[in-house]
Amino acid sequence: MDPSGLPISPLEQALHAARALVLADLVAGQVAEADVVSLVEESVVQRRWWVEQWPEGVSYVAGLIAQDVQDALLERYGRWPLCPVCGSGDPHALDVEPELGPDPHWVCHQAGVKVASVGSLGRATGSAS
Ligand SMILES: [Zn+2]
Repeated sequence: MDPSGLPISPLEQALHAARALVLADLVAGQVAEADVVSLVEESVVQRRWWVEQWPEGVSYVAGLIAQDVQDALLERYGRWPLCPVCGSGDPHALDVEPELGPDPHWVCHQAGVKVASVGSLGRATGSAS
């Protein structure tokens, strides 16, 4: 229930949850600054429109917002999130899998491993402790 007393739609619930997951990963990577948070908000606005056009995509929004923010950060700040698994070689970013599907995860394609669910990067990197 929101303060107006109206039930929150499943779409708003999904967007709210997705926003929280991506912000948790940004905090874990210590990049959750005000302008980065605004990138998340921009993506949420765009994905709200997208899901309104295609309601079946509602369970995909967390993975999509994670990818939107990743792309936006690449332009402005650089690679995010950096792979915490590979100790050697060039620093590289994790990828979201599935690109378009429910239950998104961060994966490292070099090591071929699933690193963490979107929203759980802090546990994988140990920075949340
Ligand atoms: Zn890696």
